[in-house]
Amino acid sequence: MNEPSTQEEPTGFAQEDPAGTTQEPTGFAALGLRPELLKSLIALGYEEPTPIQRETIPLLLDGGDLLGQAATGTGKTAAFALPILNTINADDAPITTALVLVPTRELAVQVSEAMHKYGTQQNVKVVPVYGGQPIQRQLHALKRGAHVVVATPGRALDHIRRGSLDLDGIRHVVLDEADEMLDMGFTDDIEEILGSTPDSRQTVLFSATMPPRINAIAKRYQNDPSKVQIARSDADPGTALITQAVYFVQRHHKPAALGRILDIEAPNSAIVFCRTRTEVDELTETMNGRGYRAEALHGGMDQKQRDRVMSRLRDGTAELLVATDVAARGLDVDTLTHVLNYDVPSAPESYVHRIGRVGRAGREGIAITLAEPRQKRLLKNIERLTKQTITVKKVPTVSDLRTRQVALTVEAVREALAADDLEDYNPILNGLAGEDNDRNIALAAIKLMHEARGTFLDEVEIPDATIRKERDHTGKGKHAKYEKGGGKSGKGGKFEKAPRASNPDTGFVFVSLGRNAGVRPGDLVGAIANEAGLTGKEIGPIRISDNFSVVGVPEDAVERVSKSVSSTMLRGKKVKVRRYND
Ligand code: AMP
Repeated sequence: MNEPSTQEEPTGFAQEDPAGTTQEPTGFAALGLRPELLKSLIALGYEEPTPIQRETIPLLLDGGDLLGQAATGTGKTAAFALPILNTINADDAPITTALVLVPTRELAVQVSEAMHKYGTQQNVKVVPVYGGQPIQRQLHALKRGAHVVVATPGRALDHIRRGSLDLDGIRHVVLDEADEMLDMGFTDDIEEILGSTPDSRQTVLFSATMPPRINAIAKRYQNDPSKVQIARSDADPGTALITQAVYFVQRHHKPAALGRILDIEAPNSAIVFCRTRTEVDELTETMNGRGYRAEALHGGMDQKQRDRVMSRLRDGTAELLVATDVAARGLDVDTLTHVLNYDVPSAPESYVHRIGRVGRAGREGIAITLAEPRQKRLLKNIERLTKQTITVKKVPTVSDLRTRQVALTVEAVREALAADDLEDYNPILNGLAGEDNDRNIALAAIKLMHEARGTFLDEVEIPDATIRKERDHTGKGKHAKYEKGGGKSGKGGKFEKAPRASNPDTGFVFVSLGRNAGVRPGDLVGAIANEAGLTGKEIGPIRISDNFSVVGVPEDAVERVSKSVSSTMLRGKKVKVRRYND
């Protein structure tokens, strides 16, 4: 890979080691991956492996089992995907050698897209199979052949039983987000699947947490696994002078959210960190389109280009630097007021080093992170490392933005009024003499100025994803007891803080089986998540009575859940599901 060396750093890249390590970053090539994969990674703009990738890829290439503790956002998908793909040749027949089990439909699609991208040079065929999608389509896809199948456990089992998923050739099994799968009641399914695969397989288990149940699975189905956990350092992070905030937004709203946050914050100069070169290039273009003077900085640029960018930032020609971690290594610019993380960094240490670009030499700085709701765990790790709280903020609304834009224009006019060169503009005013009164002329001038200041008028609100985060935080929804009346606390109610039922977006489904049929919360969550493609967190509250159960699901998913779960079996019995109105 085209890694810049420290000697090549332009002036202004301090000769320090901000990554906190003494060795040079190891590129993907040093991990022993085949050239086709390296080519794909370059095309994707990945500059260097994340910590989990650096640790696990060599272990997995060696063929051993692995038990890894890593949250979403650490780069764990590539960590298990690349070693699997490394064993596939471009002309290999599409026989399934790898099975990746994931808890949700969303993750199945995401993982299979990632594996497809990494494996393009080798023509790797990846097929996702998950509940909620017509089985016929999956049967066709599997029949055409797949090197890798990414599946939710329930649907995988379904295909195994139908004979459409042949496990004889399996050499690798990955359990991704294993804790989540167990929480959703997939334990029996997973055990059955693992029991049907060849004993010679390599078994990889990734989990964000390591409760005893995970260790039990590891003990039963893994062979002396290497254990990997992203190390947490207790080094003094030196972030005391930095105000830290996080905005929760869905990925596709990020460009707009970033623009709006920058409009409100009006930084003197800022650096925006992205994960890949491609992201840097795209975001630079977007921000320029929004009226910002943005410059890209990444490892794919030569020394001269990088020097030019740095001097533009220093002399104020550029106000926004969009960069990858590698390119911004050691960067020291004293006019920087803000660091923005376009994504939560893959390791807490890298967050600390990124935000350390501000708050230097006793100055105050602001660090802002855009996160997806599911990256909450990574943020918790960061808070633990920095021993500081990251304040959750709401994405500015259209009205917040307008108010701020007016305030900035008022301030600019006020400054102009205080200047002593106003008389120089008399000829312009005289040119308009008699055409209108002074007030209207002033208004027209303000309008021009307001527009020229780049007052970008977004008309569309950006949905705030914090609400989902707050629900996740309570951790109570999933197994909380349901109480009639949409969560209002009634006699003997245990549902005072019902996070879901008090949410107007929660609807309820009636499930025709209950305690007498041996139904447990995990069974309901598992079946609904698998068949209707919901995440465990979207399901709840749950009440299980002797003969039936009632489950809260997002209102707009009630019909889908009723339809898709009705035709399935729960605890070996056929189940009927319909909307629950009372
Ligand atoms: P994951 O933790 O697997 O969900 O990955 C989180 C994000 O990081 C995904 O958008 C990946 O595309 C991205 N990513 C993974 N590895 C790298 C890397 N080495 N460099 C840059 N981005 C990466």
